[in-house]
Amino acid sequence: MVREKIRGNLIVISGPSGCGKGTICSELLKNNPDLFLNISMTTREPREGEVDKKDYYFISKEEFEKRIKEDKFLEYATVHYGNYYGTPKDEVEKKLAKGIDVILEIDIQGALKVNNSMPEGIFIFIMPPSMRELKRRLIKRNTETKEQIIDRFKKAYQEINEVNKYNYIVINDDINRAVDKIEAIIKAEKCRVNRIEDFDLNTKEEMIHELLTEDLKDYNK
Ligand code: 5GP
Repeated sequence: MVREKIRGNLIVISGPSGCGKGTICSELLKNNPDLFLNISMTTREPREGEVDKKDYYFISKEEFEKRIKEDKFLEYATVHYGNYYGTPKDEVEKKLAKGIDVILEIDIQGALKVNNSMPEGIFIFIMPPSMRELKRRLIKRNTETKEQIIDRFKKAYQEINEVNKYNYIVINDDINRAVDKIEAIIKAEKCRVNRIEDFDLNTKEEMIHELLTEDLKDYNK
């Protein structure tokens, strides 16, 4: 028998603010209900329409820092304006052990930390088609102040240099095309040779002999 590993893949999707990773992940999930999009914890205030335990686990700074001390995060970072964001370790591990592929949609600092602790993950960098387009998207989404847009834009410029630490780059020029590419990556990763757990094709001579005589005894050509 040729058996595949039961463990799920950890798929880390990240990229600079405004690259469209959030939209890509929600589209990806619509078409692939078997994937699990991990829910992060954050100390930032919920935005209008955001739901606790669905968009994020919204917790206090004290609670977050208590969890850091208890080593409950796979990674955490202060992403924007002193707010903590982190990936709870237990939930990810449970899903992977059950054979479920887990998506982490996290920032670049977080992705690099996960790369250190779980290098077997699949690291996908979402690249905007141009910096001009990134600036346009940051302005269009209308969720940040002018200063915040400037900060995010400057940070994006530095973050793009980290792309070489990833396994894949997906240019988000068209959302459907970007999602298609990520689906193709996820499928291809399932076919890696190192995912074969049990390559139990018995090559012992007696076995070869037995298999051949079994089926060839009445074959007369
Ligand atoms: P937002 O406040 O706009 O929801 O998210 C801000 C940034 O934090 C985004 O780039 C998002 O990908 C990132 N982020 C969300 N969850 C996590 C997490 O668990 N860890 C890290 N490192 N970044 C996260």
